[in-house]
Amino acid sequence: MSDRPDRTTVATELAATAPTAAASATATAAGAAAAATAGPRLLAGSPIAAEIRAGLVTDFAAFKERWGYVPTLAIVLVGADAPSAVYLQQILRTCEKVGVQGRLVEIGSDATADALCNEIERLNADPAVAGIIVQMPLPAGIPLRTVIDSIDPAKDIDGIHPRNAGLLSLGYDGFLPATAQASVEILKRSGIEIAGKRVVVVGRSNVVGKPAALLLLREHGTVSLLHSKTRDLGRHTRDAEILVVAAGKAGLITGAMLSPGVVVVDVGINVVPDGQGAERLVGDVDFESAKGVVSAITPVPGGVGPLTNALLLTHLLRAATDQAERGAAASAGGAPAAKGASR
Ligand code: NAP
Repeated sequence: MSDRPDRTTVATELAATAPTAAASATATAAGAAAAATAGPRLLAGSPIAAEIRAGLVTDFAAFKERWGYVPTLAIVLVGADAPSAVYLQQILRTCEKVGVQGRLVEIGSDATADALCNEIERLNADPAVAGIIVQMPLPAGIPLRTVIDSIDPAKDIDGIHPRNAGLLSLGYDGFLPATAQASVEILKRSGIEIAGKRVVVVGRSNVVGKPAALLLLREHGTVSLLHSKTRDLGRHTRDAEILVVAAGKAGLITGAMLSPGVVVVDVGINVVPDGQGAERLVGDVDFESAKGVVSAITPVPGGVGPLTNALLLTHLLRAATDQAERGAAASAGGAPAAKGASR
């Protein structure tokens, strides 16, 4: 099991948020095909994300009015590469749209773990910075755990710090990994009942599959968690009334592995050749064979992806508000603001 989203993830998160022309065409074609055959309901993430962003514009304006400053999201990029750079520009644009200050902190790929942790410590101590994201994967040689541990849990808005992961596993409120949250939120906001359902999650990474399974359990699903060592995957996936797939393997789940009427959340984003010399995005579910079996499915792109950034910025709002309130309480009481006191 890998703890690290790969470079493909980075590139394709961008595409899920801002589809390429080819990808849009694919999604449109998928939508048209479904409509033509009276196919499944497509659970689109983009309209939900737009609704969340519209609320954030108002909320961040109210924050500025109340506290007199615009909170900053710091994005730490270690070693620039093209897909990350493009993806990060997208996050920065989203920040701008909702009235948040985005700050890209670029660190050379030859940086040591100490240098990276020192930079994170500086951001932890900067009162203007409400949230910190460290772009993954890190260069080989920089231990992930050391870096994760150095982020102030109160600013860990993508829920990767052990404190936030622990809070999630205990059922308390911490910062949630945004993609896992998006995969559950898309079900809830589409009016799909989770409680009591047989829910199967494929993939157990710390950033997507495992937290998604915990969140689905929190929603009272009866949850099974599958992974690369699971024997006879289809035997388990055919049992699902709700199937969440986050494996990063194009076409892993075919229609023959699904029960009629299942609801599918396809978190996977894979870049594959389109057969005409270009590339297109596909999920982990083979849409063509699945569409006649499922009752509802998230499209790729345009499903879970667009929700992720919007939810991340809701976390930033919460972090900024908590920090501002703690700072005000500390000033009033003369005590220093507590570090790492996220809810
Ligand atoms: P990851 O760290 O590589 O984890 C993949 C998981 O899938 C692992 O737990 C692995 O099992 C399991 N797996 C791999 N092959 C399998 C197989 N043949 N059968 C059953 N399980 C299998 O990936 P990740 O970071 O969780 O990302 C998963 C997918 O979500 C990727 O496609 C990524 O691009 C996408 N993603 C999307 C978004 C978004 O916003 N939509 C955001 C992040 C990631 P083991 O643990 O046994 O190795």
